[in-house]
Amino acid sequence: MKCFVTECESTAQGLLWQGKPYCNQHYNELMSNAFEEEWSQWDDDTQPSPWLLSLFGRFLEEKWTVNGLLSKARVRDRGFNFIKNDTGFAFEITRHPGAFTNSNPYSVNRIVQMWNVSMQEGRVDLLNERPWTTSDPE
Ligand SMILES: [Zn+2]
Repeated sequence: MKCFVTECESTAQGLLWQGKPYCNQHYNELMSNAFEEEWSQWDDDTQPSPWLLSLFGRFLEEKWTVNGLLSKARVRDRGFNFIKNDTGFAFEITRHPGAFTNSNPYSVNRIVQMWNVSMQEGRVDLLNERPWTTSDPE
């Protein structure tokens, strides 16, 4: 099957964008443009739109480098305190280190990690960790 872009002769790679097949290059362009567009419309004082988080999730799954242990699928649902910055954004997520090896269910260990997302570089880096507080999501 050919790429959905009329003037493109490349074969579609099985990557669907809004239900239509594209080659890798055009799929990447469409996704990057949509992501940057939605990011630029993100008001500093608000949390990102569901569409922006959905695009972010796709980049995490398919494209980007994650420097650290991050459960990609959970970021979209569990990320909080999103803060827009010049090159992307940062967010926090509650983690449960050792949750599956801890034999005492009453002493669940929680920490909050802050991650930085660089859209230009296509990478996500762990910035720091802090103790979990009762005002943070579980
Ligand atoms: Zn194409």
